[in-house]
Amino acid sequence: MKSIEMPEDLKAVVAFHGHMCPGLAIGYRAAKAAAAELGLTRDKDEELVAVVENDACGVDAFQVLLGCSLGKGNLIFRDQGKHAFTVFRRDNGKAVRVVYKGTAGSDTPEGTALRQKVFGGTATAEEQAMFEENKNRRIRELLAAPAEDIFSFKQPAFTIPERARIFESYACEACGEATMEPRLRLVSGRKLCLDCARPYHRGW
Ligand SMILES: [Zn+2]
Ligand SMILES: [Zn+2]
Repeated sequence: MKSIEMPEDLKAVVAFHGHMCPGLAIGYRAAKAAAAELGLTRDKDEELVAVVENDACGVDAFQVLLGCSLGKGNLIFRDQGKHAFTVFRRDNGKAVRVVYKGTAGSDTPEGTALRQKVFGGTATAEEQAMFEENKNRRIRELLAAPAEDIFSFKQPAFTIPERARIFESYACEACGEATMEPRLRLVSGRKLCLDCARPYHRGW
């Protein structure tokens, strides 16, 4: 099995994520491509916001390479189920939405069938080896292909998310847990957290 050449910054991404996989390779290339498009010379010092449209492996590359993290409030999960990643620069308002084309590094029908066998626990040793080789082929393709062959570069249709705000918390009057103000609901005059309030929805 041919090994995969890994640059230092990719090693850091793999160490954070826990393994190398095609999804991580997509995120790694997407984060680097976004940084290049936005003219970022340093990785962490710019004020960046990443809006990711999936919660899969590739998102971790944005955390490591661009310093966009859930805890800092500059990683926003927009659950659209797409391999699309937007990065905004707060200092000059520039943004780029990097969308995986699904061509370079894509899986084959045979590869998909193998994965189902491996994850279903029914693969033979030979099929397991074929699965690994196929996965590594995809990773190598994703690391080698020119960025324009892997991604479309677009402008997001959404605006830059507002900065993280800090809110007061109040104790839920049912469970007692401190809850931030915008997440409390008023129910018969009592302040309740979302776990304790029964949702009320009508229409759309
Ligand atoms: Zn992964
Ligand atoms: Zn509660």
